[in-house]
Parts: sequence; C-alpha cells; structure tokens
Amino acid sequence: MRQAEVVTTSPEMTVALGESIGARLRVGTVIDLRGDLGAGKTHFVRGLALGLGIPSGVRSPTFTICQLHAGETPLLHVDAYRLEDPHELLLHGWDELLPRAVVAVEWGNRIDVLLPSRRVRVSIEHAGGESRRFRFEGLSDFEELAGVIHEA
Ligand code: ADP
Ligand code: MG
Repeated sequence: MRQAEVVTTSPEMTVALGESIGARLRVGTVIDLRGDLGAGKTHFVRGLALGLGIPSGVRSPTFTICQLHAGETPLLHVDAYRLEDPHELLLHGWDELLPRAVVAVEWGNRIDVLLPSRRVRVSIEHAGGESRRFRFEGLSDFEELAGVIHEA
C-alpha cells in the first residue's frame, strides 16, 4: 500500500490522527502537507507533536516561517505560505535540520524545489461540514508509510 485515505469529522479527530501517526515517526521523515487555508494542516501538525511527545504547543508558524520544537525526536514545523522564495529557508538552517528532525511543511507545494523526493505527501480536502479527507501518499517508495497509516 502506497496510498491511504482517512476522513476525520472534527478538529479533535484530526489532532488524534496526527498523534497516532506522530507516535510512529522517526527523524528524517518529511511530511509535505497540502490543502487550502482552514483545511486542518496545523491541527494535524499539533497532533504529530503530541505523538512525538513534544511538550510545547504547536501554533501556526505563518509569521515565523519555521519553528523547531525540541524533544527526543525534534519536530521542525514549516509554514511556507508567506515565503517569497523557497531558498529563504536555507537561512533558517533547513539543510542542517532536515536530517535531525521530523519535518512537517504546510504549503509544501511552495517549497517543492527543496523537498526531498522521499517523503510523505498529505493532501487534505474539505468533505462537507467538519469533515476533512486526508490522502496519504508515500513518494519515492516510502514504504514506511504503509505501516504508519495502517496502525494509526
Ligand atoms: P490550516 O493550517 O490548514 O490553515 P488549521 O488547522 O489552522 O488549518 O484550521 C482548521 C480549521 O478548520 C479550524 O478552525 C478547525 O476548527 C476547523 N475544522 C473543522 N473541522 C475540522 C477537521 N475535521 N479537522 C481539522 N480542522 C477542522
Ligand atoms: Mg496552518
């Protein structure tokens, strides 16, 4: 399985989905999040952080572009929405941080050129009311995804 779909029906369920996936992630995993404003990207990342056992809360990093959350497995949370040029991220230590953290990128499409081909793409769509459809794809034979989503 290289693709999976999950529908959540509340913000809390999205956080819980992120949490169960986050608990299984290892350093070096890149999560490329796509979806409109209000899709639930930040809620999902909040869940990832909980699953990784990161004590500090995750906020929308729109105005700071990227935030590194320390922990046993650190989480680098990037929001590329306001990034004029993807290469600005290099000034934030992107290259050094990539192999040392779980990396979650909101608006991943805006930094396509910097994303490794081996990553998990999560596309989120509104599915009526408080329903959101999450589509997970392991890019470049990211087989680990199968286990992660299956057990979540
Ligand atoms: P994004 O980061 O994609 O812009 P946020 O996670 O910041 O989105 O916000 C999602 C918004 O949608 C919140 O206001 C949240 O309460 C609402 N919402 C409604 N249903 C859901 C759901 N199933 N999952 C996540 N958020 C939801
Ligand atoms: Mg957001």
